[in-house]
Amino acid sequence: MPWPHGKRWVYSMTYDEGCAALLDNAVPVHRRHGIPGHVALVASQVGVPRNVPGSSYDGMMILSKEQIHALRAEGWGVSCHSLTHAGVTVENGPTEVVQSRRVLEAALDLPVPIFCIPGNNDGYPGARAFAAEASYQAILGIWDRVNAPDADLLCLGRVPIHVEYPPPFYSVFDPYKRIHQAIDMGGWIIDYCHCPLPGRAIHPWKDCTLEQLDERFATVRRVGGDDVWLAEPNDVVAHLLAERAE
Ligand SMILES: [Zn+2]
Repeated sequence: MPWPHGKRWVYSMTYDEGCAALLDNAVPVHRRHGIPGHVALVASQVGVPRNVPGSSYDGMMILSKEQIHALRAEGWGVSCHSLTHAGVTVENGPTEVVQSRRVLEAALDLPVPIFCIPGNNDGYPGARAFAAEASYQAILGIWDRVNAPDADLLCLGRVPIHVEYPPPFYSVFDPYKRIHQAIDMGGWIIDYCHCPLPGRAIHPWKDCTLEQLDERFATVRRVGGDDVWLAEPNDVVAHLLAERAE
């Protein structure tokens, strides 16, 4: 296994958009379980209310530079979630994929080597086409799978942790989701949702509740024990790149 400290599999949690409401809700749950988090940020909307009309999270305040630096000090990480949250295409790649990295790094005064596709995986061809020009080391999508230890870093899957899936599946929340598969594969689970709240999801297809997040983390820790590396995606990517360079 390529994982450090004798660990046998890896667990990460990510939140798209980076809503400031994470601070009063998900962040204390992370602290309680000792699990670092990660936010995917729209580059042009740091520290301002989200402006993506039609989004379930439109109008919600987004974390500021100062709040992000405070989270960084607790082990959290960030990725670039495009410039405007428009669907990425090969036509808008120069702005949504390339320029967005420069804008976000300037806004945060931090390196941002991971791109997170906004919307859905339809944006993948455009993201992939411009990843090299932007010097991204990894791309996060929402393929629901465990990433193998030798996974293509420019095509990483994430596991939706939601109250219920859209039709025709209606799959309900499962705190054990993919954990045993990750153990058998020696793989890397990257969970994803947006902004869990007490007793409710902002959208059942896009979020779990805060109580479900707590149950997910408790299950990862209980089943994973000492074998699971609880890590933020930038740290995992950096580790794998160093490992593969040897
Ligand atoms: Zn998004």
